[in-house]
Amino acid sequence: MTANSRCSAAEPPGLETQRREVESLLRECELCAGDSWYLVEHRWFQQWKEFVETGDQNSSSFPGQIDNTELFEDLDSYHVKERLVENEDFVLVPAEAWHKLLVWYGMVVGQPPLERKVVDLPSTLKVEVYPVEIFLCLHSNMDNVITAQFSRADNIQSIQRAMCQVFSVPPGSECRLWMKSSDSSCERLRNLHVSVLDACLSSGMTVIMETRNADGTWPSSRPQIMRNSVEDQDSYRGQSGVCGLTNLGNTCFMNSALQCLSNTPPLTEYFLQSSYLEELNFTNPLGMKGEIAEAYADVIKQMWSGRHYSVVPRVFKTKVGHFASQFLGYQQHDSQELLSFLLDGLHEDLNRVKNKEYIELRDAEGRPDQEVAEEAWRNHRRRNDSVIVDTFHGLFKSTLVCPECLKVSVTFDPFCYLSVPLPVSKERVMEVFYVSLDPYAKPVQHRVVVPKAGKVSDLCSALSEMTDVPPSQMVVADVFNHHFFKIYNSDESLSCILDRDDIFVYELSVQEEQQEEQVLLALYLRERSHYRDYGSGSSSYGTSLFGHPLLLGVPRSSCSQEALYNLFLQRLARYVRCPDPSEELEEEEEDDDEEDLYKTQTNGISDDEQQEEAERVEPSQTQLSEDATANSQSDATATVDPPPELNHTQPPQDHSQEAPNGSGLQTELLPPAAGTSEESLCGNTSRTDATSESPAEQTPQPGEEEREEDKQEEACSPSPLTNEQSTKRRACPKRRKSLFIIQAVNSNGTTERGSGEGGSAVSFSSQPYVAIDWDPDMKKRFYNENEAEKYDKHSSMEVPQQQTTVQLQECIELFTTVETLEEENPWYCPVCKKHQLATKKLDLWSLPEVLIIHLKRFSYTKFTREKLDSIVDFPLRDLDFSGCLLRKKLSNGEPPSCYDLIAVSNHYGGLRDGHYTSYAVNKDNGQWYYFDDSKVTYAREPQIVTNAAYVLFYHRQDKIRKPTLPPPNTSPASSTPQPANETITSCKDDGAEPGASSYVTMETD
Ligand SMILES: [Zn+2]
Repeated sequence: MTANSRCSAAEPPGLETQRREVESLLRECELCAGDSWYLVEHRWFQQWKEFVETGDQNSSSFPGQIDNTELFEDLDSYHVKERLVENEDFVLVPAEAWHKLLVWYGMVVGQPPLERKVVDLPSTLKVEVYPVEIFLCLHSNMDNVITAQFSRADNIQSIQRAMCQVFSVPPGSECRLWMKSSDSSCERLRNLHVSVLDACLSSGMTVIMETRNADGTWPSSRPQIMRNSVEDQDSYRGQSGVCGLTNLGNTCFMNSALQCLSNTPPLTEYFLQSSYLEELNFTNPLGMKGEIAEAYADVIKQMWSGRHYSVVPRVFKTKVGHFASQFLGYQQHDSQELLSFLLDGLHEDLNRVKNKEYIELRDAEGRPDQEVAEEAWRNHRRRNDSVIVDTFHGLFKSTLVCPECLKVSVTFDPFCYLSVPLPVSKERVMEVFYVSLDPYAKPVQHRVVVPKAGKVSDLCSALSEMTDVPPSQMVVADVFNHHFFKIYNSDESLSCILDRDDIFVYELSVQEEQQEEQVLLALYLRERSHYRDYGSGSSSYGTSLFGHPLLLGVPRSSCSQEALYNLFLQRLARYVRCPDPSEELEEEEEDDDEEDLYKTQTNGISDDEQQEEAERVEPSQTQLSEDATANSQSDATATVDPPPELNHTQPPQDHSQEAPNGSGLQTELLPPAAGTSEESLCGNTSRTDATSESPAEQTPQPGEEEREEDKQEEACSPSPLTNEQSTKRRACPKRRKSLFIIQAVNSNGTTERGSGEGGSAVSFSSQPYVAIDWDPDMKKRFYNENEAEKYDKHSSMEVPQQQTTVQLQECIELFTTVETLEEENPWYCPVCKKHQLATKKLDLWSLPEVLIIHLKRFSYTKFTREKLDSIVDFPLRDLDFSGCLLRKKLSNGEPPSCYDLIAVSNHYGGLRDGHYTSYAVNKDNGQWYYFDDSKVTYAREPQIVTNAAYVLFYHRQDKIRKPTLPPPNTSPASSTPQPANETITSCKDDGAEPGASSYVTMETD
């Protein structure tokens, strides 16, 4: 290209002039990055020097044409030899000197000039004698490799340009470059503006170029799409943007946020038009080096390609987790938190401001709002300029007033979304199970209203009003997996109890003043496994908890094994059948070692003590029966709810409402003494008359009842309750087979090894826990699981739970209400020179094109954590802010302040679990859709306002474009006129699938 074949027309100057001109150039020319220097063969150059210094025009030392032959490996490729040394093999001359020499001497025909650039290497400038020689190929055809040289100072974009040209890539294609090292590892060349040197590209490496597929994917990251065979075949062409997102394991929060953003037209168009490519900010220390923006772009391009039913956002999730470790893993998170992170990450990745200047913020100091607001916005834009700021950022005014000196501080702060509070109810509805003392009463589920900041005693008081049992006779416990997770004290805060906890309230017997101390005994039910662990001692065997635990108040003196056994039989009588004698005898033989076990594993009360205690107690059984009957009768009229199920094999009893209370109960806890009626143990006969009181129940046929009674009597007759039998038992080790064995356990229901050894290890100073262990066969025969699980519903459960509805406008007003700063977050008053609990007021100054409103449903305070499930009534159209915007319309240039809804992120469920979905309107066809992970269904506008709505997206009306496509024909083939399925808003991920006709996409994995 340079004049290598050009003949010198002009006569060269004199030798002395030549020498002077070239030498001064060599002496004075400094290395300057980007300048060209030329290689000249050292031998030719020496020849020329000798010629100009010593010879004359006709001297034999005339060097002839510039000849670099010795520098080339061969004269076909003109490839420069490796490891040439400056001033031995070649000299470097600046461009000006080169051109003079070329003009004077010309060059050997065919040889290329060896032009080399000066490159700015770290700490040194040098002429790049050896440029980087790399191989180029396309991802789609890696066999076609081209060799090319680039300077270390060239940027990656020049490689991309060269490749597009060499491989004839259609203009407008979106390209990605990868560099492959000799060890075959591949790395993205993400920043096209960095130099070959900074990208660490070196000779011998290969640069591979790929172009984005029509479906938005990259050929190199195929696995990001889960393709089903159908999709592969016909390359599905659905409505752009109507595309599910596969749940990668608790990632519905992410999918919900992504669907809302995907349906934000200005942002999605920015990505679909690839405008982001020019604005990727690889150097912003606050950003993610462009990686979040690129990963987001990939998801959006795929979702809007119309080629997928559902996209798997795996790469995106990995990137998010990489930059925000709180989103790593697969726990459930908050869609609003992710949204906040994502908007911030996208903003910094796309920030057009490459070097943020420091700007000192000024207080208003009495200047007019307009001036201060404009200054604040200008300052914000000087540091933050991106599509996110363009789309989502608004400005609010914050006014702080010092309570002491009345100093007023005004600042204007940008916001990316409005977090508006919901009016908080002071009350709370709790659902609890009440367990009466009456052993025949099923647990009853109650719904009570309690103060949100109340204590456990408030719950008892509320329940007391429904049960007529004094709060002092109630114990509240959290039941989890058949054991007590926690037994509450009455002064504990109700905030410890979550809505999803299973709370049981147990009625305790009256404790009369002169009587002895009662022990609160926790009773668990366990089933022994057939397997017995002989290896670790006879006292261990596998057990598993089952059924419902109980809490009983037991007089200190009634804690003998036998007394407890009888007491438990009595309390469990509703679902534990008493054995009949023939059944027992069969198993007597094998009881031996269990009897031993039984002895060593007592509750720590010696046999003597047991005996003594058993003898001391002599309650009046008759009294008990009468009392219980009387109570049952009086309470039966209060029964409103029929029990949900009836078990005809048991005498139907409805004691679900109230339990007996009063003096008779004390005796009920005590074992019956010698000679007392055995009926009382099973308790049925004395209570049958109560059954007819319950109108809703089916009274068994008299004959049937009769038989039942007979059986019970029979079953009870050999019961080991008399003193006589107790005495026998001590004398004879082969005694009656027990239904179950009583064991001291810890609160989890596991046997504490050695606790029974020595006879008195259980301390009643702390909460005692005992388990009754059942042999599986015995359990099968005597334990009625079906009956045990029954419960009744109190009429309070029928009252529909009041759903509070608040207007969105109320929430916005709350947001702008004056509040006093909290102790933990005071304000430093510059006048008082100390922290003050100032009053603070927020006002809206200007609003963005797309306004995100976050409804603060999750309320975390020092005392409470809760989710507010009020319905916030938000408008789908014409949300007008003109009334609450501080900025007054000064000119016609002010944008209007009316908004239409475009998307909603929903949260169903409780505090730390639940499910996220979203509603969004498609920008192209104006149709609403419901996005539930990989499922997408048509939605109708009336479905959108629910108590699940969590984050709202509004688009300013002046920016909304008319849909370019007609709304889809959503009517199914059937005559149903409604496009949307009725069930989709109420169904979470249960089986209530909308009809196939209303499905838009399919699940793909
Ligand atoms: Zn002050």
